[in-house]
Amino acid sequence: MTSKASRERGVYRAEATVDFPKIEEFLDPIVSSIATHDMTITRDGKCFDVLAPHGRARLEPLEGRLRLTVTTDDCNALNHLKYALVGPITFIAASEKLHIEWSGDETGAALPEDLRVLSVVHVAALTPRMLRITFSGNDLSRYDRPDQLHCRLIFQPKDVASPQWPMLDDRGQVVWPKRQKLPTRVYTIRRIDAVKGEIEIDFALHDTAGPATRWAREAVPGDIVGILGPAANGAKPADFYVLAGDETALPGIARILEQVGDKARGVALIEIDGPTEELPLLHPPGVALRWLHRNGAAAGTTSLLVEAVQAVDWPSDLDRVFFWGGCEHKAFRKIHHMLRQDVRLPRDRQTFFSHWHRSLNEEEIIAIGGEAYLP
Ligand SMILES: Cc1cc2nc3c(=O)[nH]c(=O)nc-3n(C[C@H](O)[C@H](O)[C@H](O)COP(=O)(O)OP(=O)(O)OC[C@H]3O[C@@H](n4cnc5c(N)ncnc54)[C@H](O)[C@@H]3O)c2cc1C
Repeated sequence: MTSKASRERGVYRAEATVDFPKIEEFLDPIVSSIATHDMTITRDGKCFDVLAPHGRARLEPLEGRLRLTVTTDDCNALNHLKYALVGPITFIAASEKLHIEWSGDETGAALPEDLRVLSVVHVAALTPRMLRITFSGNDLSRYDRPDQLHCRLIFQPKDVASPQWPMLDDRGQVVWPKRQKLPTRVYTIRRIDAVKGEIEIDFALHDTAGPATRWAREAVPGDIVGILGPAANGAKPADFYVLAGDETALPGIARILEQVGDKARGVALIEIDGPTEELPLLHPPGVALRWLHRNGAAAGTTSLLVEAVQAVDWPSDLDRVFFWGGCEHKAFRKIHHMLRQDVRLPRDRQTFFSHWHRSLNEEEIIAIGGEAYLP
């Protein structure tokens, strides 16, 4: 439990030392993954200091072990901070089956502080394979971040009378009510009006629909989801943008095109099924739109996006370029490799995610961990 001294000081602190023989191999991707969840990370010798919205953390690699420390002045944020470390560490290093045991202050299980409840107000078919759902909710200002575009949705069953939500416990882990895990998936906030209390999300309707796509297909006004986040970096200021992705990245690309300003130059490369999937996007005149049509081939089976990125005429000053994208894992790996090895784009000039995996659903990706997600 929280010590009396902690309560009096108003500072909550916990630490864990984890046996982690392959720490050297996993540390970099773990730090990068933590950084995508709205954290600022600075290197201090071999250690990393993490500045989070409600506290601080430190990762200290030792010989075959990893020491974690979290400090916060908000008791509700303690478990959240633990989770912000435990989540990426256990996902990226899923193969290592790490056991993370915390000591220090304990505040008890609590709802995630970022959880908001959204209800569907409107469902519109943008194209035959893209559905826009408008949600309403309260207290959404934390989601109104041009630099944090993504969120995780928790899908409640239809007609739920009193929705139950997951809690974060003192181990920094998610606890589902009555052990009934609800499906969750990552989506992009296409548009937000925090004053009006509205969020729009565009769902690509793929053929092998999983729980998210099924939920979206059947959504009607009044249906409920939980939203967590926001996370993941948007585009940084640049003179030249290369935006690339399939339909799952189209909401992010569309949002960035609206943000970059009239003078921006560059190219947006968007892989979709065919002409009926094209959307009228607002974009600066200097950013060319290139729609790449699969013409009936299954998503994730063509080399269209890889070839389109390969054909980009990159400016010589790569420090003034920004690449943003998301797509199926195989294309992601190839493009990632190309950006690093051929283009030699600096690490801080790109935000690129594997959005889905052609042979795995999200639960399977999480179970495999970094191997199914990293380049
Ligand atoms: C950072 C990030 C942002 C994202 N933003 C969006 C967004 O704004 N809009 C959006 O539509 N998606 C987005 N996605 C992708 C979305 O999360 C995945 O497509 C997710 O797997 C869909 O969940 P599901 O329950 O329908 O399918 P799952 O249960 O995860 O998978 C079921 C089956 O469908 C296949 N599959 C999954 N996605 C696709 C797909 N897109 N095309 C073809 N087959 C697929 C899987 O291989 C699996 O066989 C984003 C993903 C990430 C990581």
